[in-house]
Amino acid sequence: MAAFGSVFMPKMALATFEDNKWSDSQIVPSDSISLHPGAHVLHYSSTCFEGLKAFRHEDGSVHVFRMDQNIERFAQSSRLLALPEINKVQLEQMIKDIVAEFAADVPEGPGSMYIRPTHIGTEAQIGKAASASNSSMQYVLLSPVGDYFAGGAHALRLLLDEEGQRCASHMGMIKSGGNYASALRPTIEAKEKYQADQILFCPNGYITETGAANFLLVDGNEIITKALDSSFLHGVTRSSILTLAKDLGMTVSEREVSTEELLERAAKPGVEAMLSGTAAVLTSVGTFIYNGKDYKVGNGDIGPMATKLRNALNDIQWGRAPDTHNWLTKIA
Ligand SMILES: *Cc1c(COP(=O)(O)O)cnc(C)c1O
Repeated sequence: MAAFGSVFMPKMALATFEDNKWSDSQIVPSDSISLHPGAHVLHYSSTCFEGLKAFRHEDGSVHVFRMDQNIERFAQSSRLLALPEINKVQLEQMIKDIVAEFAADVPEGPGSMYIRPTHIGTEAQIGKAASASNSSMQYVLLSPVGDYFAGGAHALRLLLDEEGQRCASHMGMIKSGGNYASALRPTIEAKEKYQADQILFCPNGYITETGAANFLLVDGNEIITKALDSSFLHGVTRSSILTLAKDLGMTVSEREVSTEELLERAAKPGVEAMLSGTAAVLTSVGTFIYNGKDYKVGNGDIGPMATKLRNALNDIQWGRAPDTHNWLTKIA
């Protein structure tokens, strides 16, 4: 099996912003862009992206999950990075057009088609370190993906880091390349030093998120996660899981959680920790590493609530349960 995100469809949807307006969108070969080496994005990281998925139902139809939420977040990221304002209607049509073009290639469950809208500043102007790119390019790439857990699922090891932070705190809610770059070195070191899968960044002793996923805690009938603020990424999966948890009669608590509270709760039976994101939906956390010591969550294995909530969301995505919140858009 090819690694997640390493296979692309041969064409993508593309539009460019020049002279204060967006071009019509086109379907072009996926390797057809050319950039000036002085392009704003290559020097000053004027870039943001999205990640969403299309799913094939048993009757053969193809549906995109919560496209409106990803388009809103893409518009917000573009605005906060001083990139040209996107046209939301145009982007929605670009997503629909390219998914329709490759509808026959959308894998059956447990696979899906990962959709990657991207927006980059293209102006060739290296004197613009402190001003915005006047031109930009927006494209929608497709990558068919298989079963995320094909190699067998395991509960993750997370290093609790109270010293560093994932990215500058005013950038946290932007899905932008520089944020991943800033978390990369510490994450590689956590892997080497502690065999950690990810770092859970806890600046000032309060949990935020990992390099690319939100963090949730389940204690009995309560699901607990950090309340939204501008310091971290507002995951669509996070919000979907909270909605489904409410549907199941659980109490949803959005608030601050200290590392002290986290470790205290993790030691109790029946407590589960998990990460949420579009790629894997929900993954169990089995161990926290804190001040050089391992702390197991429950028995350290995959938990039943993570599995239950993940299945509830997957069932809607693959059309096996009613779409009561209108999260799906039928494309083909
Ligand atoms: C994309 C991302 C998430 C998850 O967001 P989803 O919308 O659920 O895919 C969480 N944290 C970070 C830093 C991310 O980049």
